[in-house]
Amino acid sequence: MGPDEEVIIRGIPISKGIGIGYPLFFSGTEEEWTREILPQKEIEQEISRFQEALEKSREELEHLQQISLVQSSPEVKAILGAHLEMMKDPLITHDIEQKIRETHQNTESIFHDLIEEFKKRFSSLKDPYFQERIRDIIDISRRILTHLRPAQRMKMTEVPQNTIILAHDLVPSETVEANASFVSAFVTAAGGVTSHAAIIARAKGIPYVANIDLKRFKYTLPQSLIVDGAQGLVIINPSRSTLKKYRELQDLFQIQDDLFEKEKKLSAETSDGHPVRIFANLENPKEVDSILQNGASGIGLFRSEYLCLAKKVFPSEEEQFQIYKKMAKALKGNPLVIRIFDLGGDKKMDVTPDSAEAVYFASIGSELNPALGCRAIRFLMRFPQILESQLRAILRASAFGQIHLLIPMVSDLSELRFVRSEIERIRPLLQQEGRAVAENIPVGCMIEVPSAALMSDLIAQEADFLSIGTNDLVQYVLAADRSNPNTSDLYFSSHPSVLRLIRLVVSHAYAAQKPVIVCGEIAADPLMIPVLLGFGISDFSVAARHIPLAKHTVRKWSLADSCKLAEGALNQPSSAELKQYLS
Ligand code: PEP
Ligand code: MG
Repeated sequence: MGPDEEVIIRGIPISKGIGIGYPLFFSGTEEEWTREILPQKEIEQEISRFQEALEKSREELEHLQQISLVQSSPEVKAILGAHLEMMKDPLITHDIEQKIRETHQNTESIFHDLIEEFKKRFSSLKDPYFQERIRDIIDISRRILTHLRPAQRMKMTEVPQNTIILAHDLVPSETVEANASFVSAFVTAAGGVTSHAAIIARAKGIPYVANIDLKRFKYTLPQSLIVDGAQGLVIINPSRSTLKKYRELQDLFQIQDDLFEKEKKLSAETSDGHPVRIFANLENPKEVDSILQNGASGIGLFRSEYLCLAKKVFPSEEEQFQIYKKMAKALKGNPLVIRIFDLGGDKKMDVTPDSAEAVYFASIGSELNPALGCRAIRFLMRFPQILESQLRAILRASAFGQIHLLIPMVSDLSELRFVRSEIERIRPLLQQEGRAVAENIPVGCMIEVPSAALMSDLIAQEADFLSIGTNDLVQYVLAADRSNPNTSDLYFSSHPSVLRLIRLVVSHAYAAQKPVIVCGEIAADPLMIPVLLGFGISDFSVAARHIPLAKHTVRKWSLADSCKLAEGALNQPSSAELKQYLS
């Protein structure tokens, strides 16, 4: 392709909408690299890329040295001086260059192997001198690696307007900081439809396309990009006519949004008059004030773990109490469902080394399958002191509103029983301290693991309510990672097996006369809403920005038609046929 030629590449559509803007290679907290074998014709270009990165690293170190002189920190100056010396070492200059020529591998791979080799060679030597040398090598390599491509290390909150973020992957704590007025779109190599970054992008209305090979942006970034989040397209250097077409589409979507917006204050009921409640899913407590204005009946899912992800520490009991209390009050008697920390899986805390938090995570170690590992309630049962301070905060806040407590990733009744027994142990202690606690806090279970769905008759007898988390249920039922682009064609929210399980859970909840709500992304899908209505669901929880569309969909359907649609959906033999049937 010519440097300014329009090129269209296809990825996985993650979040609808059209983003037009300037690309920025975002290098977040996760270090990422890919091993590449380069064709002969790219070798010289790769070597110049390495030399430029080396030069920029040297300049950066010299600059830092000058600053340290001004700040009179001789130790820092000495370390930086040593790093500068090491950068002149043939090991870094000549050897790397030679290895690129010999192996045809990209610079990242060669540095990675170098670091691994050093670690292996020196790991048995406990002498602090050698340990320091390994750290120096890692530090220098990192510095060079960050200069290897046009990536910019900046915070999500600092990006300029009309930015299209290109990244290997996005972690939830970064995505949650993105402001839709500045970030026009996300484009990533990794990521799946219901990864937490995807959920947040949709909640914020930021278009997002995943599974894009970012290698093509290795040497130069294009002038401009269009991201079509509905079709999963990334258009590099769009022509004038393409730009015009997409600007017109943007206007059209805006008109549609404005139309739905008008309906948000209307009641959510089917066309034949059956009442439905639409609640909001929330990650950021600061957004609580807009929830009722958006026409929600309350908060159906507060993902409290974002308090930890945002701050990188576990918030104290008092901090949590103040947040929950404020939220409960803002909801003016409407329900607030607080899901206790659902940490682990793709919601990893980016902890500071040597912090108390780091110790917890270190004790778990690195897991081969974190989604099947020490996640959510399993983590909280392993570290009951964290659960205790959250329960104390929730119980204290319960005096200020209608708080419900929700347990994530329940796979056995013992987990519900444990949380209940902890509540009963803590309640009298709080009362002895003279603190007000609501008489009753409903405790619900997320039904997102197949074992819980299959045993939901027994769970429904003991829980106060059930909340169907389809994002996880789908990944566990279909054995298809929700964050992995390689399994995105296997991850079907509307797979017949998933629908059958949902119907089973709803029938169990009905039999036990317990409320049941759906809070996965499926609850905001206009194709799936009538099916869920037909199964008997009347409580939905969706991202606040999807409330108008969810209401609009509910109001369009009669319960009678929804039941017929749902019955037919259950009998579709494959996800492809089901999809066709629904659309
Ligand atoms: C779910 O799994 O459907 C859910 C709502 O929880 P989360 O997406 O936070 O895992
Ligand atoms: Mg879940």
